[in-house]
Amino acid sequence: MRTPDEFEARLREYVVERSEEGRAVRVGEKESSEQAAIVERYADLFSRPQLETLRGAAEAETGDGRERLERLQLTCEEGIVDAQLTVQEDELQNDLLAARVDWRGDEIPLRTAQAQLAVLPEYADREALGAAQTAVSASFNERRRELLTARADLDAELAGEPDAVARIDAAKNVSHRAIHAAVAEASRATTAAWEPLREWWLDRLLGADRDARPTSAHVGWLRRLSPLADTYTKECCVPVCTATLRAIGFAIEDEKSIHLDLDDRPQKSPRACVIASDPPFVVHLITRAQGGMHDYGAFLHEAGHALHYAGCDPSLPYTFRAISRDHALTEIYSYIVEALSREPGWHAQHFGLSAAEAEQNAQAATFTEALLFRRYTAKLGYEIAFWDRFADDGGTAAGYAEALTEATGIRYPAENYLSDMDAGFYSADYLRAWVRAAQLREHLRDQAGDDWWRSPATGDQLRELFREGCQPSSEEIAGRIGFDPLDTGPLRAELSV
Ligand SMILES: [Zn+2]
Repeated sequence: MRTPDEFEARLREYVVERSEEGRAVRVGEKESSEQAAIVERYADLFSRPQLETLRGAAEAETGDGRERLERLQLTCEEGIVDAQLTVQEDELQNDLLAARVDWRGDEIPLRTAQAQLAVLPEYADREALGAAQTAVSASFNERRRELLTARADLDAELAGEPDAVARIDAAKNVSHRAIHAAVAEASRATTAAWEPLREWWLDRLLGADRDARPTSAHVGWLRRLSPLADTYTKECCVPVCTATLRAIGFAIEDEKSIHLDLDDRPQKSPRACVIASDPPFVVHLITRAQGGMHDYGAFLHEAGHALHYAGCDPSLPYTFRAISRDHALTEIYSYIVEALSREPGWHAQHFGLSAAEAEQNAQAATFTEALLFRRYTAKLGYEIAFWDRFADDGGTAAGYAEALTEATGIRYPAENYLSDMDAGFYSADYLRAWVRAAQLREHLRDQAGDDWWRSPATGDQLRELFREGCQPSSEEIAGRIGFDPLDTGPLRAELSV
């Protein structure tokens, strides 16, 4: 068996290879993915004896040393489960790719139908395509449920903890029930501000003839904020976003370790992403602008991740540069950089808008933000209840549609309960980042004033936090900036504008 140091070194090579392969396929440089061959080559990393070696070593340590070894142990556990389920998961993925939706006499791929929903301009068309797409997707639910069960059984066995909520709490070192209680309270407390905001933007984005409670088929369209696309052009996205970052002290285009891929290629996925192949030395930031305000938020969001990974101290152990217990930490930094685009002053400065127009467009970003926050809060509540009942009922849709519809004012179909389910309470990682990024914004505003969004002092503070890489938890960051981890006061203030 490898010692923990040897395991860590080999893991780094594995992550680099998988990341670079994933990147090449995602950006359209390669037509087929050869991930399976890489997994095969590194199969010796993820074995039960190796897991026991890491576990034993972790138990003998304390403090940071123990934290590092526990993260390696969790990575090993995940690798064992992934290896066992790869074949079934690939089959499901391939069948989903091959699935077709009947649309106006054509058979279109399921994924294309999803993408189309964001761009179809007619309300009735989105309704019809949404219903057709949901029906096809739901026909895979039994297979999704089988895979979920298989994964839960393996997780339980390897971790020695049959209760899913307790197991995920332990892996992430937080209480998901406590997180849910705090965000649910914040969601309730901001309902009075949300309802008029929602009604105003639904009218503007969907038209006055819309249903009182539109279906979730329209969410992609809502998030695109299409009526604002003339102001937020595709051409200006990169120059405006790089200027935004320069104002707070980051010249992202000059960062040697950040590889920007902004080209338009037919096979390139339109979703922006960061692939941190080997932080801080190799970080890819990939976007493909489509036009509209969504591009700006997406670029800034990914820039936050990229600057975080590229800004970590190279002398940290590899684990603390690249391996986290969850995504809650790095999402703080993507959220805070994206939040620059929710400042009315930012809209006025870069797009030549009047104060009133700038205010209104900034509010559009708050609308989509509040919609997502409320949706994720309801989703986490549903997911906790789902796993609480799981041993008895094997996983059901009970409460899914009701909770999401009540929280958002948008009708979510019950059949989506599995396609909308993230493994390991990923939804909670986002919620923790929402709470923390709002705290951080208040802190930056205290330090740098109302102009925090264009002050180099903001960059200086962020650079200090980035140096720590992936080592601290999101909750430790709360302590650094003087907040209780579950203090949702700043978030409530943001959502109440
Ligand atoms: Zn992100």
